[in-house]
Amino acid sequence: MPELPEAEVVARQIRTRLLGARLREIWVGREDIVREGYTTVPWYRGASLQSVERFGKSVVLEFVNEEACRYVVAELGMTGLLLFQSTKAKSPQHIHVRLLFDGSREPELRYWNPRRFGRLSLLDKPGLERYLARRFGVDPLLVSQPDFVRILGTRRGRLKPLLMHQQVIAGIGNIYANEILFRAGLHPNMQVGRLSVGKVERLYRIMREVLKEAIACGGSSVRDFFAPDGTEGQYKRRHLVYGKGGQSCPHRCGGTIRRLQEERSAYYCPRCQSLRSAK
Ligand SMILES: [Zn+2]
Repeated sequence: MPELPEAEVVARQIRTRLLGARLREIWVGREDIVREGYTTVPWYRGASLQSVERFGKSVVLEFVNEEACRYVVAELGMTGLLLFQSTKAKSPQHIHVRLLFDGSREPELRYWNPRRFGRLSLLDKPGLERYLARRFGVDPLLVSQPDFVRILGTRRGRLKPLLMHQQVIAGIGNIYANEILFRAGLHPNMQVGRLSVGKVERLYRIMREVLKEAIACGGSSVRDFFAPDGTEGQYKRRHLVYGKGGQSCPHRCGGTIRRLQEERSAYYCPRCQSLRSAK
C-alpha cells in the first residue's frame, strides 16, 4: 500500500499545514526505524520546513537553518503513515518517530509504521542525492512521453513487473499497475518488447490519467491508508479490477476477472487483456 497517489496526498497535506513551521525536536522511539545519517547532534535547532516533495512512494521534508539543509525522508511503502497529532493512530505503540514543531497549526507530525518495512532517513544534501539516485527511476507524472517510450524500449521482461520496478518508474505498486493495465487493455504478463510505440504512448496517457484521478480522490484506502488528517482516500470505489477476482468484467465483455498468483497478485480480464493484442 501507499503508492504514488497516496504519497502525493500526504505531501500536499503536510505542505498546506506545516510549511514554514519551526522544528523543535525529533523524538525517536525506535532507532532501528531511522536509517543512515542519524545523529544525536541537534542540527535541527531553529530549522524550518522549507519544502515537502514526493519521490515515488516516499515523502521528503526539507529543513533549513542558518547552518545547513537537512532532509527527513519518510518511506510509506507497505504500511507507513505520516499523521498529524489530532489523528488517532490505531495502535499508538507503532508511532516510531515524532517531529515536534513550534509556531504552526500542527504541533506534531508522527511516523507510524506497524510492520516496519519502511524507514525514516535523516540526510544532508549529498546523502539525499545519493538516496534518490539509488532508489528512484523516473516519476510517472514528470517523465515526458518520448522518454517513457525510450525507457520501455530498452527494457525486456513482463509488463506489470516493469511498471512496478521502482528503479525504472517510481511510485506505481500493485493496485495502480493492475488498474492501469486493465484500462490500457494490456495483459500483465505481456513481454514489453512486443509493444508497439502506439501502445506504449497510449499506456503513458492512461498511466497518468489513472494516477491523477486517484490523487484527486485522495488516493485509495486499502487496508490501512489514511491521510495525515485522518481522511480516507475514495479511489477504491473506482477500482475496476484490483481485488475483484471472480467478478464479471466491468467492460461487460462477458469475461470474468482473474487473479494470477505470482510475486504479487495480478487482476485482469482475459478477454479485454489478451496476450495477443500487443500490436
Ligand atoms: Zn473484459
